Amino acid sequence: MKNLILIAAPAAGKGTLSEILVKKYNYAHISTGDLLREVSQDESELGKKVTNMLKNGELVTDEIVFELLEKKLETINGPYILDGFPRTLNQAYKYDELVVKLKKELGMVVVLNTPYETLKKRIVGRVLCKDCGSIYNTLTGVNMPKQEGICDKCGGFLYKRSDDNEESFKTRYETYMKKTKPLIEYYEKKGNLYYIDSSDTTTMLREIEDFL
Ligand code: AMP
Repeated sequence: MKNLILIAAPAAGKGTLSEILVKKYNYAHISTGDLLREVSQDESELGKKVTNMLKNGELVTDEIVFELLEKKLETINGPYILDGFPRTLNQAYKYDELVVKLKKELGMVVVLNTPYETLKKRIVGRVLCKDCGSIYNTLTGVNMPKQEGICDKCGGFLYKRSDDNEESFKTRYETYMKKTKPLIEYYEKKGNLYYIDSSDTTTMLREIEDFL
């Protein structure tokens, strides 16, 4: 199995796809968003700084992101999925160097395509389980929790991420268009780029399995 880099607008299905691939193919899942949310729980100066950046939907500095990522990659032996990284061209250049330093493979880069309005509904209606991390949606009609506020799978409480609101979505989408989309051209030139339709889970999985 090749390492995967997922390039996608917010809520385009990176989390869902990763969850499936982890279960089916034993991939390790590295989400820089998750690593940052973990740090933001700390009472430290760093924790507070990260919390503010996350709340505003801004990108966190490369220095912080790379420190967390490198530490995480050092603990991984098999194939892995990078979810939410790289987010900028600069991160892509620095990641090329990190891959060499850590003797890893760059692998395949997969772009997930979903229409704008679908993304907005997914973000504004998204809720997650505090205990098992399962994702639900209260707006799209797909994956509604059976009982409001409660996880179908484990009975845990459902919560909303603080950046899952319309205003923050717009900022995150604009940031994606401006800073992350240029990565597509970068990896296209390297020749390891693939596109998949991520409007629904079944199509997304079928298309990625064609490449794996
Ligand atoms: P995500 O969970 O991927 O939607 O990321 C949530 C937030 O974490 C983003 O809006 C950014 O503020 C921050 N973040 C995640 N990954 C990165 C990254 N590679 N570089 C900078 N900031 C990031």
